[in-house]
Amino acid sequence: MARRKIIAGNWKMNMTPSEAVELINTLKPLVENHEVDVVFCVPAIDIIPAVEAVKGTNIMIGAENMYYEEKGAFTGEISPAMLVDAGVKYVIIGHSERREYFAETNETVNKKVLKAFEHNITPIVCCGETLTQREQGVTIDFIRQQIKVAFLNVTAEQAKEAVIAYEPIWAIGTGKVATTEQAQEVCKAIRDCIGEIYDDATAAAIRIQYGGSVSASSAPELFAQADIDGGLVGGASLKADFGQIVNYNK
Ligand code: PEP
Repeated sequence: MARRKIIAGNWKMNMTPSEAVELINTLKPLVENHEVDVVFCVPAIDIIPAVEAVKGTNIMIGAENMYYEEKGAFTGEISPAMLVDAGVKYVIIGHSERREYFAETNETVNKKVLKAFEHNITPIVCCGETLTQREQGVTIDFIRQQIKVAFLNVTAEQAKEAVIAYEPIWAIGTGKVATTEQAQEVCKAIRDCIGEIYDDATAAAIRIQYGGSVSASSAPELFAQADIDGGLVGGASLKADFGQIVNYNK
């Protein structure tokens, strides 16, 4: 069965709650495409007004992060139950900015992935290499390691539902998009790695996005690749361009 494409926006630390509602109202008519899953991953404080603003549309709301404990003395953190209660369906886990600025590791990513599944939130698990790693020729080894640790103790049934976002760090927010060949090569390697950890059926089911300066012009060719099931989009998700990206196939 063909995998359904998933196109998610990562708003990062942008948009106040009132700006979020305004942006959603602008984007709503532009992102109608019932052949793909459309997700807006928004800052925690925007989640409740965003869930309200997308009611009756094809848009689902995601979070950009969550903690791996249930509740308690973790000042400033957001729990999975809080996200579920607010209407969140997806959560980005282990974005490279969180790994770089907030000390997230493959191990904390794994704890968060397991916790997200416990609460029926679909994790968008991020991986990706630095420019130095690419130049040293260790990209695939590095990403295989990220994936193997992120999926420790995740069952095949859970992994089938997961989303992986391949985001080369050198392509994030830089305007430098990976070539379609580079993106396809790594996404295929990720699928092969999932096949080795689990089985062919799991590898065939899991959805793998490309992220890194995706634009309206680069999306159609990227999303046409055999192992690329959509995109995680930063900068362009805050603009009308996101409508064109979602409708890459029209
Ligand atoms: C991202 O932050 O996930 C991302 C891909 O950003 P951008 O599209 O701006 O490169």
